[in-house]
Amino acid sequence: MSNTPIERNAAQIARDVNARTLSAAEVTEAMLAHVDAVDVAVGSYLTVLRDQARQAAARVDARIAAGERLPLAGVPLAVKDNMCVTGTRTTAGSKILEHWVAPYTATAVARLLEAGCIPVGKTNMDEFAMGSSCENSALGVTRNPYDLSRVPGGSSGGSAAAVAAYEAAIGIGSDTGGSIREPAAFCNLVGFKPTYGRVSRYGLIAFASSLDQIGPFGRTVEDCALTYDAMGGHDPMDSTSIDRPLETTAAHLRSDLSGVRIGIVKQFATSALGAEIDAVYAQAYRDLKALGATLVEVELPTADHGLATYYLIAPAECSSNLARFDGVRYGLRVDGPDVNDMYERTRAAGFGPEVKRRILIGTYALSTGYYDAYYVRAQKARTLIAQDFERAFASCDLIACPAASSPAFQFNAKSDPYSMYLMDYYTIPMSLAGLPALSIPCGWVTPPGGDRPMPMGLQLCAPLFAERPLLAAAHAYEQKTKHALKHKPTLTEVVG
Ligand code: GLN
Repeated sequence: MSNTPIERNAAQIARDVNARTLSAAEVTEAMLAHVDAVDVAVGSYLTVLRDQARQAAARVDARIAAGERLPLAGVPLAVKDNMCVTGTRTTAGSKILEHWVAPYTATAVARLLEAGCIPVGKTNMDEFAMGSSCENSALGVTRNPYDLSRVPGGSSGGSAAAVAAYEAAIGIGSDTGGSIREPAAFCNLVGFKPTYGRVSRYGLIAFASSLDQIGPFGRTVEDCALTYDAMGGHDPMDSTSIDRPLETTAAHLRSDLSGVRIGIVKQFATSALGAEIDAVYAQAYRDLKALGATLVEVELPTADHGLATYYLIAPAECSSNLARFDGVRYGLRVDGPDVNDMYERTRAAGFGPEVKRRILIGTYALSTGYYDAYYVRAQKARTLIAQDFERAFASCDLIACPAASSPAFQFNAKSDPYSMYLMDYYTIPMSLAGLPALSIPCGWVTPPGGDRPMPMGLQLCAPLFAERPLLAAAHAYEQKTKHALKHKPTLTEVVG
């Protein structure tokens, strides 16, 4: 495998393709062959875009031959299946959209293709991005490439598994309450959620519109930075996209943390997570200090209300957003004697149990008589959480904490919805506050009942629009610790 381009990082592939020592066509053929070999076992992709990938490779090679330089020349890209790509099935992991073909391409994807990416395929996900393990997909099972008996995380688990299993060099996902950061932590990747509004949501199937944000997965910080730089920035097609110049990041990565104050959150003490995990985070904080950072204790007193707040706001928005799937305009229709009956049958057959639960909770929370008690109070709590972060950032530049409370768990381990919701404990507060945050590999633990080490993620979070110092610091930490390189995915098992 090491003689083929598939194990190379995006930055290396782009360098080689721009230098014409490697063609996009070669990368693409190697990647498609690798996907054929491993994806039966991993299950990253719902649709492999063979024709589009080959056509894109030919276009990239022609542009390079004509003298252009492209920041992501020939870089294989995995796209979460809630993002539209013209002419491709775009399912959101749901039966209701199982056969729906997108008539246009999401801005984020279009920008990455323009920058030279090769679209390898559309990746599995929890239905409508609701979940933390990919087990809520109605259309397929995705396995963690580091232990096939474990989940890849969710909801963007397919994109994470694809990058971890070398079935793409980079991936994109959407993060509403942790759906990039948690699977990145589970799959030994860097996963980055930019500031809300930084990457256009045009062409992203909406879950909770005040929280949804597209971001990259990479095996390195640099790859995430290149991807973010290429897809970020204002888009008039998304009214929530921020009209403010993008601060690019890839040229500003650092190798130390001198002068950086990093907040360690008092309320996020890791001692309750078990000795082994506690030790991983204690070491991570020591490493930040050894790189020159000053550690300061900060408080997020209302962060503990994040889960309850999120699980009102997100379902409320989802109940409204998903009203459009009624059998009339998009996807599945199950006919009945009258139109109401048709709506009911379509939605009963098309949505899975978690999506139905969220629609019910959201509809209830928004209904007359309950609106003030639930939705309005949740919005007030959201403001308090954002104010907590503002106060904390008065005394620090970045905040460090876990990305998830455990490594990847086994299939069917979370039998009730609440235990699955708890997986988002550390990622939701940042989402509610709209802040940029990422997960970066920070160590390995062997989970109880497991027989091999699994990766853990350190979450770093920055003030609004501080993507540049955030990625710069993450790069310094990555270069010093190199945790991601300590173990390989179990691909030998996969390919035999
Ligand atoms: N796990 C969370 C949920 O189920 C977050 C999902 C996400 O970020 N899309 O809502």
